[in-house]
Amino acid sequence: MKYQSTRNKGITASAAEAILNGLAPDGGLYVLPDLKKIRVDYDCLLKKDIYGMASELLALLLPSFDRKETERIVRRSFEGKFETEDITPTVSVGEETVLELFSGPTAAFKDVALSVLPNLMSEARKKCGFSDGLFILTATSGDTGKAAMEGFRDVPGTNIAVFYPKDGVSDVQRAQMATQEGKNVHVFAVNGNFDDAQREVKRIFEKYSGKGPAAGVRLSSANSINVGRLAPQTVYYFKAYADLVKRSIIALGEKVDFCVPTGNFGNILAGFLAREMGLPVGRLVCASNANNVLTDFITSGRYDRNRPFYKTLSPSMDILVSSNLERLLFCLGAGEETVARLMRELSEKGAFDAPRDITEKMHAVFSCAWCSDGDTVETIGKIWRRHKYLCDTHTAVAFHAAEEYKKQYPGHGHVVVLSTASPFKFPAAALEGLGVNASGTGTELMRKLSEETGLPVPRSLAGVGLLPERHLSVISKEEMESCVLRTAERIASGR
Ligand SMILES: *Cc1c(COP(=O)(O)O)cnc(C)c1O
Repeated sequence: MKYQSTRNKGITASAAEAILNGLAPDGGLYVLPDLKKIRVDYDCLLKKDIYGMASELLALLLPSFDRKETERIVRRSFEGKFETEDITPTVSVGEETVLELFSGPTAAFKDVALSVLPNLMSEARKKCGFSDGLFILTATSGDTGKAAMEGFRDVPGTNIAVFYPKDGVSDVQRAQMATQEGKNVHVFAVNGNFDDAQREVKRIFEKYSGKGPAAGVRLSSANSINVGRLAPQTVYYFKAYADLVKRSIIALGEKVDFCVPTGNFGNILAGFLAREMGLPVGRLVCASNANNVLTDFITSGRYDRNRPFYKTLSPSMDILVSSNLERLLFCLGAGEETVARLMRELSEKGAFDAPRDITEKMHAVFSCAWCSDGDTVETIGKIWRRHKYLCDTHTAVAFHAAEEYKKQYPGHGHVVVLSTASPFKFPAAALEGLGVNASGTGTELMRKLSEETGLPVPRSLAGVGLLPERHLSVISKEEMESCVLRTAERIASGR
């Protein structure tokens, strides 16, 4: 089974090639055209532990790899990397179940997939007989960059450059990136917002996808446009479902709704893939912050990024161009030509209207709601007071959306809220939610938050203030390409 570009069915690739390329050469995203044919025996799958589930799902979604290979990859990716023995625990909070995805090395959900991706890439390189060095370019709204660098640091044959919006990440996130260790990591703060950085990374990709930025160096991507990231993200949807059955919160086969704090539409798309593969998922609730371009799209079918960009308390979702939406359009049945046309309209006019039938199909699965910064802070406080559960700002956006959703849909199923970051990553907002006045550095605020709540600072974040800051480059978005070329030259010459 081959992957193809969302924009052209003539452009195909094996899963291994798709992982190495990141983006298809025509700028489209790689998709499996016959995804619906992959039906999992979820009853059997749910009896396995997360390692077994992951091995099975990766082998199904990335058919270049057989079960033996995925088992090895999964073990190497997960073992010893997470702070909790259960990599993705579920917790009951009031009526909801929270799926906690932040126990990895950088305390954000992206760790789950970015622990796996470098190992997939290493194996894919061998499989494709590929001797060029891989140069990973990543635009980040804060969490991807750090998680990707942790995953790729000192992985032979790879280098990684991360571009983050200079004033668009929390102090803890900035410090995490500035202190990153590893000989093959390169970090740049960009004067601009995430969309600027992401657009520029995409442009550089398209420009150098054929010839490479230097001799013997090939570009690839760790963003959620990479199928090697999307596939591992399906795993925790199955795992959460299994937990609910085991705890008798639902009966086997009963539909569960997932509420997902969303930016680039990667996490929630993995939920959609799980649903397509047969997991009993009812509805998927797309939760946005004030950058509510997706809420408007799901409601009306019109995507329009011509609107003010807000810096919010949930910065990892401050995104107006949601890359993975292109995959959703394809998966809902918009043909290659339609997808290509809509994406052209998006890049030329900043807006497009989905065909009526696609919007209707979307309405059959997706709900949406958005949450202001005021409501985010209030939700953190409310959940703490009611349930003694501390959540981060992104998770609070999802909690808020879950409440709205339950009002919109009285016939809803059991709701699982995906928790995508540790509250200690965004301590200022968490303290504000608790009604505590505090100022100081990220490290001081983490300590304060720990004192107020009695919760420990995650191990992965506790060290951040102690490490030297090694990466201090600030560049304009116009300089990104020359930074890439310069770094590629250094990689090529082995310096
Ligand atoms: C990246 C991120 C999101 C958004 O995930 P997408 O896959 O881009 O939709 C939400 N919360 C946190 C904490 C993140 O790091």
